[in-house]
Amino acid sequence: MSTRDRVPAIGIDLGTTYSCVAVWQHNRIEIIANDQGNRITPSYVAFNDTERLVGDAAKNQAAFNPANTIFDVKRLIGRRASDEIVQEDMKLWPFKVVAGSGDKPKIVVKYKNEDKEFAAEEISSMVLGKLKGVAETFLGSKVEKAVITVPAYFNDSQRQSTKDAAIVAGLEVLRMINEPTAAAIAYALDKRAGVDGKMSVLVFDLGGGTFDVSILTIDDAGIIEVKGTGGDTHLGGEDFDNRMVNYYVSEIKRKHKVDISSNLKALGRLRVHCEKAKRTISTAIQTTIDIDCLFNGIDFSAKFTRAKFEEVNMELFNKCVDTVETCLRDVNMSKGSIDEVVLVGGSTRIPKIQELLQEFFDGEKLCQQINPDEAVAYGAGVLAAKLSGMGDKAVQALELIDVTPLSLGVGCDKDLMVVLIPRNSPIPTKKEDNFYTIRDNQSAMALWVYQGERSKSTENYLLSKFSLNGIPLAPRGVVRATVCFEIDANGILHVSAREITSGRSNAIKITNNGSLTKAEIEKMVEDAERYKFEDEVHLKKVMAHKALTDFVYKSKAKIKDYKFRMKLRKSGLSVKDLEDIDEQIEEAIQWLDEHPTAEIDDLEEKEEELNEICRLTKLKLTLKD
Ligand code: AMP
Repeated sequence: MSTRDRVPAIGIDLGTTYSCVAVWQHNRIEIIANDQGNRITPSYVAFNDTERLVGDAAKNQAAFNPANTIFDVKRLIGRRASDEIVQEDMKLWPFKVVAGSGDKPKIVVKYKNEDKEFAAEEISSMVLGKLKGVAETFLGSKVEKAVITVPAYFNDSQRQSTKDAAIVAGLEVLRMINEPTAAAIAYALDKRAGVDGKMSVLVFDLGGGTFDVSILTIDDAGIIEVKGTGGDTHLGGEDFDNRMVNYYVSEIKRKHKVDISSNLKALGRLRVHCEKAKRTISTAIQTTIDIDCLFNGIDFSAKFTRAKFEEVNMELFNKCVDTVETCLRDVNMSKGSIDEVVLVGGSTRIPKIQELLQEFFDGEKLCQQINPDEAVAYGAGVLAAKLSGMGDKAVQALELIDVTPLSLGVGCDKDLMVVLIPRNSPIPTKKEDNFYTIRDNQSAMALWVYQGERSKSTENYLLSKFSLNGIPLAPRGVVRATVCFEIDANGILHVSAREITSGRSNAIKITNNGSLTKAEIEKMVEDAERYKFEDEVHLKKVMAHKALTDFVYKSKAKIKDYKFRMKLRKSGLSVKDLEDIDEQIEEAIQWLDEHPTAEIDDLEEKEEELNEICRLTKLKLTLKD
């Protein structure tokens, strides 16, 4: 098959607040603009009485429909409902999240006047589906394959759930790649001629909801090797917004003696204004927030200064720099050995962040040449091209060596975490270890798989439990099981265990409480198709309604025209006939107003009635005019 015949694979940066899609075309990467002409699309999904909205349309109506406008799902995906972080977030989200079966969080919304529950994977799949559609419109062909990025610091459960979301969206995941690594690809390609030997780069990726630091080397042969990674899957621009929201909530309490913390609509509007003001003060020193009727009919007006923003967020900013320090220590590198710091993610535009980093690196190492909003999708697009056999020589020469961000192990006697794969191990990788029975005549061995850095296993994240049953009865310590951990190129763990004497084995795909079963995925795929179909029907109805409305108003304007009326009179219509026509047109206008969601059949019937008038009046207007 020639390159021309191949269906391109796309690269998707699935962000907490914004997402972006890229494709290799005409020997370069194209960042694809959405239907609104925007190169980044809000990771928002909204539901209302009549339709589902995704992207800009969803974000634009957030303030008026807060309870049914979903954002931030990346903070939810792959986590349990009882997770402390989820519980904290729930206090600030204007939408409702409940614990579903197996402690899986479910988002509750009203859609077409019915309560509906969605898993985080489903909401993410809607965002992915939107981006897939954006790419398909741009390319004029179906898209089935994608490289999708995840924060480097995502654990196995969060990765697995993201992959599930892609499947639900009808995308085959060619590779899941860490966001800073994707940004490094963009940087490396940009630099292709400029890399002399080997250079060390630190990617500082601070987005809307996640923070990653990766230290990599890039050489002139195109090999990108990640040395180590660190971060926080729950730190980003949204936290900075939340701190400002909380600050104003307490100011309002102090000044007006009202607590708006349980008023979802007011909180939602305050958050939107805080986010906007935050962007403004990245270039200005201060701005003001004015919100009409924020609560109890009271208008809210306040100053938003850079100084106050920095004060309430300083602890979080310092946390970012501390992570950089830890990451350098982990890979045994000094800050002096870093040649360049690449800034990625919208929140790296915050002047204080740049200042702190500049200070930390004692000078001018910050690279801002690459677009912080698009670099991750750009890199994902390049890798998608490489993996689908497209791209130029430089793209095909790229080699990636990534690492696993967190240690993986088994919980043993006395709550000890026995690590099989330490963090920052290059992936793909495979490690085995032996485990022995701890009681006489033990007939089954339970294995608990954890991910994290604590020495007590229960303080780490429990990925999965499984057991080897029917093992031979023997005194403790005699029966041995070999446990094998394998991390694939996507960073996803596969575990198997084999009991040596009987040869009994058990291979599991890591499925924790948060992951979806095959049946659940199939059901979600079906639902997704149904929602897509409903959206299409809805769009058709809206377009037909609009076309008919335009037609009626045009007809009304024409028939009101004095000269035209005289012509009609001369052609034999009486004054009464004209009055009847006026009335029918007014009736049609009223009917359209009263039936904004009329079915196509009814619209067609109305159109026929109007055509009859046209025939009567010899009005040469048609719907196509
Ligand atoms: P990303 O996930 O990389 O798209 O980053 C989105 C985050 O960057 C959001 O929290 C935005 O509020 C934040 N952001 C975007 N532009 C700016 C800016 N000029 N100043 C501060 N934060 C920004």
